[in-house]
Amino acid sequence: MITQEVAWNIITRTITPLPVSPHPLNRCLHHILAEAVKADRDVPAADRSAMDGFAVRGDDITKPATELKIVGEVPAGSDAAPSVGPGECVLIYTGANLPPDTDTIVRVENTTPAEDASITVIEPIKKGADRFRKGENASKGDTLIPAGTQLTPAHIGICAQTGCAKPVVHKHPAISILVTGEELKTAGEKVELHQIRDSNGPTLQAMLKANHFKANSSTIVNDDLKTTSTAISALLDTSDFIIITGGVSVGTYDYVPDAIKKAGGTVKFHGVAMQPGKPQLFAEFPGNKFVFGLPGNPLSVMTGFHEFILPALKILSGMPVDKCHESLELPLKNEANSKGRRKYYALGRLIQGTDGYLIEPIKRKGSADLITAGKADGVFAIPLGTKHLDPGSIVKFTPWVTERRTHVNQPSPTL
Ligand code: AMP
Ligand code: MG
Repeated sequence: MITQEVAWNIITRTITPLPVSPHPLNRCLHHILAEAVKADRDVPAADRSAMDGFAVRGDDITKPATELKIVGEVPAGSDAAPSVGPGECVLIYTGANLPPDTDTIVRVENTTPAEDASITVIEPIKKGADRFRKGENASKGDTLIPAGTQLTPAHIGICAQTGCAKPVVHKHPAISILVTGEELKTAGEKVELHQIRDSNGPTLQAMLKANHFKANSSTIVNDDLKTTSTAISALLDTSDFIIITGGVSVGTYDYVPDAIKKAGGTVKFHGVAMQPGKPQLFAEFPGNKFVFGLPGNPLSVMTGFHEFILPALKILSGMPVDKCHESLELPLKNEANSKGRRKYYALGRLIQGTDGYLIEPIKRKGSADLITAGKADGVFAIPLGTKHLDPGSIVKFTPWVTERRTHVNQPSPTL
């Protein structure tokens, strides 16, 4: 059986990023930029006022109680450029261009009105005060956002500011979820004693959404080779990536591996030395399309999603491979134990210690224990071959949630 590291290597060698194209700015948030965004002009494009007040010649106001004559007005958005001689000033507003020969803004509150459309500047002001210099933030042609960046709201603003109405970004993958299991009903349906409700479909949809991806559909199918293979083929018509849960192991009713082959897929790996999630399966289909099979237990699904599927989706979306695994290196609050036979993913909670964040291990009752997962913030890995980690050991913690406050006062059993 291959290790998690080898499995990840196979994924990185198999998946290539989806095509790029110009997207309207309002559809670019969270997409990966494929072409750098450069400044179309200096930022700011001209010397600007940072305050409401008076634009003056700095050399005029080196002494207290200087009187200056108001010779004009420049509101924001005005192209007026009145000439200002010695002893003169112009009424100016935040964001307006400084008139030629002025270099300093005197705030309104540092002046008093004087006779004859004049003002008195109460105190001397440092030359250049409250002025934004042309090009002080960026020069024309500077790279403002490098290619490979995942666009945040600030980046969207930068694109708008520099006139990039259609940034060139990678396409986001079209994703479908296929849930397998004879025993499954939906949350709204009545269940008999031999049945359970599908939690994997909704969890997967939510995990995708929490990470700025979207599932186009989540379908439940029975444990049947033909039904599963037909469903895979149909979903491939509209998907770049299919996530399957359940039926991926080697039991009599585990039809997913054969269904993938029947639908034309090439299995790249099946089985990873990790717990939970050993029977994970990754398959490639023609046309840069992929299917990932996860065992049905809810914690196998959540672990496999964060360990492989989310990073794989990030590669597809154009994110540089070394940025696709999000983890934090933090010390353990308490000891943690594993059998050491596989890489063990233990649930953990991020807590604030006196010297920074710590990971508090949380004990779970097997890989079906979704209830305990609800008390965790993510997982940390106990490496293959390691049976014990002392308190203070540095672990790689993969956050599953960004909202951590809910757990603050709950006690947690040690691992
Ligand atoms: P399987 O991988 O199909 O052998 O399923 C492993 C375990 O996960 C079984 O106990 C299943 O009942 C359970 N399971 C499978 N699919 C789901 C699902 N969609 N939601 C919750 N539990 C599931
Ligand atoms: Mg099953």
